[in-house]
Amino acid sequence: MKNLYSLNVILLFIAQWSMFNVQCSMIYAQDGPVDIDEWQVMKVEAAKDPFAGGEQFSINFANYTAEEWCYPLPGAKFLSPYGGARNHGGTDIKTFAGDTTRAAFPGEVILSGPHYGYGNCVILRHANGLETLYSHHSQNLVKVGQWLHAGEPVGLEGRTGRATTDHLHFETRVNGKSFDSERIFDHANHSLRRQIFIVKRHKNGTLKFKSEEVER
Ligand SMILES: [Zn+2]
Repeated sequence: MKNLYSLNVILLFIAQWSMFNVQCSMIYAQDGPVDIDEWQVMKVEAAKDPFAGGEQFSINFANYTAEEWCYPLPGAKFLSPYGGARNHGGTDIKTFAGDTTRAAFPGEVILSGPHYGYGNCVILRHANGLETLYSHHSQNLVKVGQWLHAGEPVGLEGRTGRATTDHLHFETRVNGKSFDSERIFDHANHSLRRQIFIVKRHKNGTLKFKSEEVER
């Protein structure tokens, strides 16, 4: 925890330093304003506790551009939902063995390797406060610390770990706790739900999820 805190401080310092440099170069550069490094800002956001600013945070998926999201397994058919009697922690979707799973949002690889019943598993942490998990890969294609754009390859669809068929077990998470990915992805249509997604943390630590239509 302490390590994480000091990492945050270092990342914030780096971001502030680079923003300071950008401001300086904007003053002195002759060839127009310089863009703030968007990746740098995202890295700082992704390293932050999503609840750092209060007991709730929200993501406006209505504004997401094509570069900001990707369905994790393009063309997949739906296999089994989150929850139910066996308390399923994710959503199972399927195409064919060896197909490529893709980063749902831009983010950092925080785990890549064999992980209990998940088999070959990858977890990404995103600047929007979410984490996504991809498992049962025949092979992971990414390494811890790597940064991915939305849609970049994560792994190859497989059946490692506790799996009886080749498929992708996909999870959406907040602070390591999974929630139904159907809340943000329309799995039947392989699309992102164009809503404002709100995550609220109660005093006892439980999370509540809510979606609101965007007023037009
Ligand atoms: Zn599953």
